[in-house]
Amino acid sequence: MKHLTAYVFLMLLLLSGCGAQLSPDEAQESIQVIAMDTAMLITTYGERSPAAAYACEDVIRDLEAKLSRTVEDSEVSRLNNNAGKELTVIGEDLSALLDAAAYYNFTTGGAFNIAIAPAASAWGFTKDHFQVPSQEEIDELLKLVDGFTLREEPEGVALGPGQSIDLGAIAKGYAADKIVQVFQEYEVPRGLAQLGGNVLAYGDRPDGTPWRVGIQDPAKPGGKNAFVGVLELTDAFAVTSGGYQRYFEQDGKTYHHIIDPATGYPADSGLTSVTVVAALGEGDGSGFPGTMCDAYSTALFIMGEEQALAFWRDETRWGEQGCPFGLVLVTEDGRVLVTEGLADRFTLDEDSGYTYEAVS
Ligand code: FAD
Ligand code: MG
Repeated sequence: MKHLTAYVFLMLLLLSGCGAQLSPDEAQESIQVIAMDTAMLITTYGERSPAAAYACEDVIRDLEAKLSRTVEDSEVSRLNNNAGKELTVIGEDLSALLDAAAYYNFTTGGAFNIAIAPAASAWGFTKDHFQVPSQEEIDELLKLVDGFTLREEPEGVALGPGQSIDLGAIAKGYAADKIVQVFQEYEVPRGLAQLGGNVLAYGDRPDGTPWRVGIQDPAKPGGKNAFVGVLELTDAFAVTSGGYQRYFEQDGKTYHHIIDPATGYPADSGLTSVTVVAALGEGDGSGFPGTMCDAYSTALFIMGEEQALAFWRDETRWGEQGCPFGLVLVTEDGRVLVTEGLADRFTLDEDSGYTYEAVS
C-alpha cells in the first residue's frame, strides 16, 4: 500500500492548485473512492456536480466488479479460471479492453502484455505475498506468456491452458476514458479525476488556468512535496508508471511490479518513472486516449530511455489508430526528459536535484 501515500500528496497538490483560490460561486463536489486497490479522487464542478461525481464512482465500481482478477466472480476471474476449458461470456468493456491490449501488445513489440499475469503472480504482486521466484519457475511461466492465445467465438472467449490475464496496467486508463463520457453526459464544465497514477484534467480550473499535475519524485515515494516537477494541463490525460508504486525488498535488492515479458523479471531499464500525456479526444481511433496512455506508460517504462524515445519519435510505430502523445521520463541517474510539445507545459522543481533535458 506504499503507493497510496504518494497519491495523497499528489491529490493535495492538485486540489490546492499550489495556492490558487477556487471560485466560491461554482458548485463543486469532491469524493474519494477506494477501488482497484487504489485511492481515487473525483472532483466535479457545475450544477450537477454531486450526481456526476457519484456516477463516476458507479462506473469505477462496475468496472472493478467486471475486470478485477481478485474479485472471485468477475469476468476476468471467470476467464482466467476457465483457461484451457470452456468459453467465457464477456461484456462490452472486457471485449474492448482485450482488443486494446492486443493492439498495444503489437505496437509496443510485446513490452505491453496482459498475459504477464502468471509471472506477476509468481512474484506475489496483487496478493502482497512477495517472493523472488526461481529461474526455472520463471522460464516455465514465460512459456505461458509467449504462447498466449485468445480464442474468440461468437459464444465467448477462452485462454489457453494455464494462461491468465491481468488488466492492472490498462483498466484504470479505460476507467478514466469512461469518466470523460460521464462528465459530458452530466455537462460538467471542468473536473479532475485522479485514479492513482492516472490523472484526467478536464477543462481548466475555475480561475481559467490549467490544472497542475505534480510528478512524484520516484526516489522519494510518499515524500511530502517530493515532485520532480509540475505539468500544466487542460483537457488531457497524464498517466504515470513507476517502479516505486508497488515493490518489495529482499536481500538488499528492490523488486517492483512492472515485469519485462522478455525476462520475467521486474524491468530494469534505467527509468524510474514514465508519464504519458495525451489530449482528450485525440484517442486511439476508438476514442480511448486514457487507455492508450495507461498502456504506454507501462510499456515505455519497460523499454527504457532510448527505445521509449525512438518509439515516441516514430509515428509509424503507433499503428493506424495512433495519436500524438508527450512524455516525461525520469531516469535513475537523475535526469528528467520532456518531449517537445510538452516542454512548455512542464516546470522542473528546482529543489528536486534533477537536471532537465528537452527532447526532440
Ligand atoms: P501500471 O504500470 O499501469 O501497471 C502495472 C501493473 O500491470 C502491474 O502491477 C501488473 O499487474 C501489470 N503488469 C506488469 N507488467 C506488465 C506488462 N509488461 N504488461 C502489461 N501489464 C503488466 N491490486 C491489489 O493488490 N489488489 C486488488 O484487489 C486489486 N484490484 C484491482 C482491480 C482492477 C480492476 C485493477 C485495474 C487493478 C487492481 N489492482 C489490485 C492493481 C492495482 O490497483 C494497480 O493496477 C497496480 O498496482 C498497478 O497500477 P499502476 O497504475 O501503478 O501501474
Ligand atoms: Mg499502465
